[in-house]
Amino acid sequence: MVRPSVPAADKEIGVRHPVLGHGFVALVDYMGDDAAIVQAARVSYGRGTRSLRDDRGLVRYLLRHRHTTPFEMVELKFLVRLPIFVARQWIRHRSSSTNEYSARYSIVPDEYEVPPPDEVRHQSTRNRQGRGEPLAADVVERFRSDLERVSTDAYAVYSRALDAGVARETARLVLPVAYYTQWYWKVNLWNLFHFLSLRLDAHAQEEIRLYAAEVARLGRLVCPVAFEAFDEFVVGGLALGRREQAALRRILEGATPEAACRDAGLPLTREDGRAMTSGEGVEFLEKLARLRGAAEGSG
Ligand SMILES: Cc1cc2nc3c(=O)[nH]c(=O)nc-3n(C[C@H](O)[C@H](O)[C@H](O)COP(=O)(O)OP(=O)(O)OC[C@H]3O[C@@H](n4cnc5c(N)ncnc54)[C@H](O)[C@@H]3O)c2cc1C
Repeated sequence: MVRPSVPAADKEIGVRHPVLGHGFVALVDYMGDDAAIVQAARVSYGRGTRSLRDDRGLVRYLLRHRHTTPFEMVELKFLVRLPIFVARQWIRHRSSSTNEYSARYSIVPDEYEVPPPDEVRHQSTRNRQGRGEPLAADVVERFRSDLERVSTDAYAVYSRALDAGVARETARLVLPVAYYTQWYWKVNLWNLFHFLSLRLDAHAQEEIRLYAAEVARLGRLVCPVAFEAFDEFVVGGLALGRREQAALRRILEGATPEAACRDAGLPLTREDGRAMTSGEGVEFLEKLARLRGAAEGSG
């Protein structure tokens, strides 16, 4: 038997792709490829080798029907350098393996993240977790220089503490979450898809989305067929709840979206009559807009 290898991915092994000010993503290793997914699935279906077209169809079928374990046969390992505030979001994905740089053992390098000016924006009025409209230039510059100053001061205190003999595990307490950490991250393809579905999404913070995009780009080299299916059915998919389907039926019958939402019980206004900016009705209208955009794009 020959170990599966993908030349396009092999060329990338160990190459550090920059993300943010001081971060990077590198593919360290992988096990399996698209064929490993097909091979695992064919064990359960008891069929012999088929053509490439059949293989693609099978991978797409497996993904559509959430037949997950064949995707788990592929493993990817990355080396990632990332700010602590991104790492805190990333580490919430429990179904993966992580080994992080130890700031108890080693000295933290003086590298911290300062967002570019156009990423320092107003608190979003629609998404309580997100950023929204641009800010005045002086507010942006004040924030960025404050962040620089706080970080520089913190690192000076850190260095002073180390010089005075304070243990590294204690001295690090002064470092802000803008400082960088580094880890190996190993994940199987199904769990990677789950991670990407959440972290490529527009609701995720911009910084982790940039990392997710780079991880996806590298993963795509290993399993292009599985990623094509992921793009089609997960990233490009659209889930409709029962009431949303009722509203869509009403629209197909000729109702306006607003009337359809009302009839289906998807509220668009508050009790005091003010228009809602979030909620199920608003999200349904967003899905409609996406559908319209897709229809216009396909024409
Ligand atoms: C846009 C966004 C905003 C978020 N905001 C917040 C926030 O404000 N506060 C916050 O704390 N978190 C927040 N999170 C983190 C989120 O709640 C999840 O912890 C994170 O996305 C990891 O998802 P997961 O648990 O599905 O993934 P994984 O931990 O990788 O788990 C994968 C799947 O395995 C199963 N699983 C794993 N462990 C268990 C378990 N113990 N019990 C049952 N099933 C399990 C589940 O099916 C899970 O979906 C946010 C995430 C996103 C994407």
